[in-house]
Amino acid sequence: MVVTTYLDHAATTPARPGAAAAYAEALEQVGNPSSLHAAGRAARRLVEESRESIAADLGAHPTEVIFTAGGTEADNLAVQGIWRARATDTRRGLVTSGVEHPAVQESVQWLAAHERADLTEVGVDEAGRLDLDAFAAAVTEQTAVVSVMWANNEVGTLQPIEQVVEVARTAGVPVHTDAVQAVGQVPVDFAGSGVDALTVSGHKLGAPIGIGALLARRELGLTPVLHGGGQERSVRSGTIPVPAIRAFAVALREAVSARESEAVRLAGLRDRMLAGVRAIPDVHLSGPEGEGRLPGNLHVRVDGADADALLFALDAAGVCASSGSACQAGVQQPSHVLAAMGADDGAARSGLRLTLGWTSSERDVEALLAVLPRAVEQARAAYRPRKKRDVKVGV
Ligand code: PLP
Repeated sequence: MVVTTYLDHAATTPARPGAAAAYAEALEQVGNPSSLHAAGRAARRLVEESRESIAADLGAHPTEVIFTAGGTEADNLAVQGIWRARATDTRRGLVTSGVEHPAVQESVQWLAAHERADLTEVGVDEAGRLDLDAFAAAVTEQTAVVSVMWANNEVGTLQPIEQVVEVARTAGVPVHTDAVQAVGQVPVDFAGSGVDALTVSGHKLGAPIGIGALLARRELGLTPVLHGGGQERSVRSGTIPVPAIRAFAVALREAVSARESEAVRLAGLRDRMLAGVRAIPDVHLSGPEGEGRLPGNLHVRVDGADADALLFALDAAGVCASSGSACQAGVQQPSHVLAAMGADDGAARSGLRLTLGWTSSERDVEALLAVLPRAVEQARAAYRPRKKRDVKVGV
């Protein structure tokens, strides 16, 4: 039997035992938190305790936590919700980066195509970092909302959120940030950061898939995307998923409590992995080296190889990895992130993302390095230029 080496924590990380236990326990309890009877009130108590715990761990006030079904929904709510609340005949600007997750990128492009949003996707440098001069030039009083991610899901680059907030504040424009990959890996303090809205997702932290939150300042106008029973400040209707919320709070508490020591441990493993990967000819690091990237993220481009062939060879050798970019029907799409960083079409299809998390160990690094040279050889032998396709599924 092939033992699996899991190096795809940025796609999803295993459920933490504490979170799974909290989930199971909450499942035993019947009650809709919106019901007024005793069972409903008990369910409501669990939700509000979890909300307080989540708010405390992210530097927010409990009333600022809006539960959603995950990061994608929170991104959609933030971008579309703020834009619709603020857009006027003369204020139609929407400013974002060229390396956003599809949950933001597709939302802003949809608003540009269907609601006459005046979209600017600001470029990045070759390490994937926002061009601050171009950003400052793009943000004006005619901008309705800015959305710039805290950390990139493909190459792990941290964005200069402090400066983004400074520029936007001067122009009086609210800022949303997608912090799905950042929370649990780098310090994230909602109030301290000065952003107006922030996206977080449970399954990247060890909670079940399908729960997340948008942190949003109370005074921020937010037009609902989901209409219905008026739960969650009337901004996000839908019966509140008590067990998932309970598990989310437990997973986040564990991730945040262990963050500092885990960041050091994972950065050590990542750097060992990088040293081993670099021993293979014509393999290049994407994104910044050391500081400036997520501790658990390593991303490389493998010259003369397609990501799908490489991922297939690694999978056959028992290693679960990713390119970090879109995949459709088993075919890797060129990465819009690598393209924004200056990669040509071939290079934008050659990405290999290796991401570490709370279950990662030295054994994983050794197992990868034992099989990677052969996998690269196989992928290079199979290399054929491909035709373009254009569907995106970011993870
Ligand atoms: N934003 C980023 C940066 C992500 O990495 C992901 C996950 O792939 C998402 C948003 C979407 O989150 P979810 O899977 O919870 O919908």
